[in-house]
Amino acid sequence: MEGEDLKRKELAIISELLSFEEFARFYHDEWEHRNISIELKIDPSYQNFAMYSKDNNKPFIKIKEQPKTSDNAFLVAHEMCHAIRDFDGNAINFGAKRPSNYREEELFDMSSKLGSMVDDPLADSCLQKYGFDPARFYTNVLIPASVESLRAGGDQSHDWHIFKNALLYSQYALQWDSIKDSSEWDKLKEQYKIRRPKVTKIGEELYFISNENGYDDPEKQRQLFNKIFNKYTIRRDKIHCDKLSDILCIV
Ligand SMILES: [Zn+2]
Repeated sequence: MEGEDLKRKELAIISELLSFEEFARFYHDEWEHRNISIELKIDPSYQNFAMYSKDNNKPFIKIKEQPKTSDNAFLVAHEMCHAIRDFDGNAINFGAKRPSNYREEELFDMSSKLGSMVDDPLADSCLQKYGFDPARFYTNVLIPASVESLRAGGDQSHDWHIFKNALLYSQYALQWDSIKDSSEWDKLKEQYKIRRPKVTKIGEELYFISNENGYDDPEKQRQLFNKIFNKYTIRRDKIHCDKLSDILCIV
C-alpha cells in the first residue's frame, strides 16, 4: 500500500478518535506535520490491546478493535508515540550477536521488551501533556488484567523468561511514576511479590538502575542498556551462562 492509500486508511480508522479533544491536539501537534507513512491494522484476533512494530522494515500499528472509545484513543496515541520516536531516530534498536543460541522470535521479543521499558513511560509522559489520562486505562483495564494473569502462574523456570518479565515489571514501575494514583499499582506489585519473587527482585533492580541512570534521551538509554547488558547473565542450560552482552547488542 502506498503513501496516499495509507493516509486515507489512517484517517478512516482514526476519524472517530478526532472527536476526543486530547487526541485531536496530539494528532495535530505531533503527527500531522511529520507525515509518517504507516499502516494501521485492526486485528480482532490480537491477544494484547495494541502494538507498534515493523514488518519487513514497514512500520505498522495494530489495534484489536475499530477505535472509538477514549481508551482506544489513548492506546492509538500511545502507539503513535512509539512510531514518532522511531521516525525521529530516538528509538534504540537492538541486534543479535551471531551465532546465537536463541531463535529470531525470542531475540525480537526480548529486544522489544527492552525498548518498551524506557519508551512506554516516555510515551505516557508525552500524552499527559495533551490531556490524556493514562492512569484511567491502567487502573480500569491493564492492571486488573495483569493481576489476573499473575494469579495464574508463578516465576517461570528459565532465566530468559524471568528476565523478560522483569523488564515488564520495571516498565510498569517507571510508567506508574508519571501517574498520580498509586493504589492499583500497589495491588499489582503485591501480586508480583507473592507470585513471582524472582521477577520482582530483578524488576526492582532494573527500575532502580533506570531511574539512577536516566532514560529520557537516546544517549542515556544507550548508557543504561550497556549497563544492563554487562550486569545480567542468562543461564542457557545446566552448564552454560551467557552475559546479555553476548546475546544482544545496540545497533
Ligand atoms: Zn508502548
